[in-house]
Amino acid sequence: KRARMIPEPKANSSPLVWVIAVPSPLHRLFEYLPPDGEAFNPACGARVRISFSGRDVIGVFLESRLSRLPNPSTLKRVTSVIDVAASLLLHEQSALLQWLSDYYLIPPGEAYLLGLSNTERKGNLQWEPPLDHVVLREGGDPLATIPKRARRQRDAIALIGNNSVSIADLSEQGISTSVIRSLLSLSLVEKVPSPPISRHAKRASPDLTEEQKRVSIELISKLNHFRAHLLEGITGSGKTEVYLECIKAVIANNQQVLVIVPEIGLTPQTKARFEDALGCEVPLIHSGITESDRGRSWALARSGLAPVILGTRSAVFCSFRSLGLIVVDEEHDPSLKQQDHPRYSARDVAIKRAQLCNCPIILGSATPSLESIANCDAGKYQHHILSERPQGTSLPSISLVDTRGLALASGLSDQAITEITRALSRDEQALLFINRRGFAHSLQCEDCGWVAGCHQCDSSLSVHRNPPHLSCHHCQTKRSTPRQCEECQSIRLSGRGVGTEQLELLMHRLFSDMPVFRIDSDSIKNVDALTSTLDSISAAGSAVLLGTQMLSKGHNFPKVTCVVVVDADNLLFSPDFRAEERLLQLLVQVAGRAGRATLPGKVLIQTRCPDHPLIQEVANNAYSEQARRLLARREELSLPPKGAMGVIRCDASAETNAIDFLDSLKKQLPSTSHARLLGPMPTLMTRRAGMYRYQIIIHGPTRREVHVVMKKAIEMGSQQKLARKVSWFVEIDPTETL
Ligand code: ADP
Ligand code: ZN
Ligand code: ZN
Repeated sequence: KRARMIPEPKANSSPLVWVIAVPSPLHRLFEYLPPDGEAFNPACGARVRISFSGRDVIGVFLESRLSRLPNPSTLKRVTSVIDVAASLLLHEQSALLQWLSDYYLIPPGEAYLLGLSNTERKGNLQWEPPLDHVVLREGGDPLATIPKRARRQRDAIALIGNNSVSIADLSEQGISTSVIRSLLSLSLVEKVPSPPISRHAKRASPDLTEEQKRVSIELISKLNHFRAHLLEGITGSGKTEVYLECIKAVIANNQQVLVIVPEIGLTPQTKARFEDALGCEVPLIHSGITESDRGRSWALARSGLAPVILGTRSAVFCSFRSLGLIVVDEEHDPSLKQQDHPRYSARDVAIKRAQLCNCPIILGSATPSLESIANCDAGKYQHHILSERPQGTSLPSISLVDTRGLALASGLSDQAITEITRALSRDEQALLFINRRGFAHSLQCEDCGWVAGCHQCDSSLSVHRNPPHLSCHHCQTKRSTPRQCEECQSIRLSGRGVGTEQLELLMHRLFSDMPVFRIDSDSIKNVDALTSTLDSISAAGSAVLLGTQMLSKGHNFPKVTCVVVVDADNLLFSPDFRAEERLLQLLVQVAGRAGRATLPGKVLIQTRCPDHPLIQEVANNAYSEQARRLLARREELSLPPKGAMGVIRCDASAETNAIDFLDSLKKQLPSTSHARLLGPMPTLMTRRAGMYRYQIIIHGPTRREVHVVMKKAIEMGSQQKLARKVSWFVEIDPTETL
């Protein structure tokens, strides 16, 4: 878009002002006068420097208009325009960020900044791709211009030919930079950035199964317009190959693809697999890489040089020259929802984005969210199914182990130990899933029942052995392990509930010559550590893998043939309305780690509730039937995906402040028959990190009614007497109501 001339202001009319999105927690835009002597409006989305509350900050120009203030000439002036030629925020991206602000009730200034990389937010110039390749200039015969004795120059011209060749490659072949310099000064060659497709695909795609072919053809036939597609394929059914087929078709059409995965930990494997299959670099966008690498990825996306970008949540805001497809893998995963400010669901934002770009979006999962299933049933999404694994491997057989009355060794039944032993003796791997890290869940007095609790939270402290200490998994408080009960001074204290450390110890004892890989947030501190552990696992022969959720997500473990879910019950009874959906997804995903190559697998689920319908259904391998049963229950109870939900949360160090704030706020909110307000009520863990946490839950038939209440809450909330003594926020579509 080109800059436009501002019309001459009419005499006596109020001056034109610029509307700026300013990063601040205030839910409004701000008016500034244009900079002195500025005759042009920048393009919408251009960065400007302004002074705000006495600080120099970067804002985003949105439009110019007649001021809405009575006395606009007293407004401050914009200091300067950073993006004079073109704006960084492209049109469709600005529309997305405006929608984000309206839908998630995020202050507009904060929403607009999400569309810029960190370096751009600081006002730095745009990253330019290095000109590290050379091509021949058009026209003429360069060899005719170069004298015969300039042998190196002639060699260089021959090597370059019709291609774009990297200067580094030329120097490896004996063409020094001084030779290149002389060719440049003769205007025979010119420098260009590296072309997007710089390598050859290392891996040909496998012969697709009939199902994969059918689904790919169907998807590829619908690439030219917006449509949400749910790709429901059992674990190991080859969803990634289907994504790749579609991605190749989009690239061939000179368009770009955005791929979103829920965890940073999934990016290295996916990146490697995509680069091998596509033959191009796939830049990453996530918080685990340096700011300058991220800036580079943003620039590659914006310039169109990168055909595919892979990232986690925040990548959904990246700008693309020409976006042709979005893929959201593991679309059911709660990590796609940002749980701190700014709160948004990357999956839902991605769907909106696809709609604004008029391109398709593929949501993939073995265990789709109930929302997405409901959208398929309502005809809003198109449903595609992959029901079998290629290479003919069957899904693992699942059996339940009723642990009532059994003597367990560090949480494991004899039957589980036997199966693990068998797998190891066949040179295969065993995977143990347990959702607690540490040695034991809590420390209890055997004489009076006292449990060591956290002073900051309504929670017990977990026991850790290495080094020995007690730790709270909710607020990270650490304490030394007491020798005596604080109530009765007994020294008979013992750990309750098995954690990963204890299981690791048992595995070392039972299988002393076997490698044991523990994967939890204590043992794996970053992506590099995870990647190198995953590499060691795939290089190892027989081995034991044990860990928490980290182990359950998306990774491929072809040698695992035995999976043990150590304790399904501690997930079973939670008052959150999504708890059953989560547990079902988790169990199916963990079970799906087994038997992914050509080896058949076996899954044992240890439980004291073998008759629970949910556990029964998992054993019968029927995710979709079970999901539909849960969906019908939500429908009956009018819980999402039926209707809409919002929450107003308030945290305070004095409990009465949290309650009083919400009480007085609630009195000012419209309570119609359309939107029901429940609360104030305590969250499940009422006290956490020293704060009391209360909430009001809003139910409505559609989002519109819930939005009306929430907008009012934002308006009235900051006017409450207690507003400065509490911290509070609103959230639409909360994923946890605890
Ligand atoms: P998903 O993403 O559905 O869990 P993947 O795409 O990771 O499944 O595929 C699982 C495994 O099967 C991978 O090792 C993949 O290379 C392999 N695979 C996928 N499709 C085929 C095929 N058509 N023929 C042979 N192997 C395949
Ligand atoms: Zn005691
Ligand atoms: Zn705590």
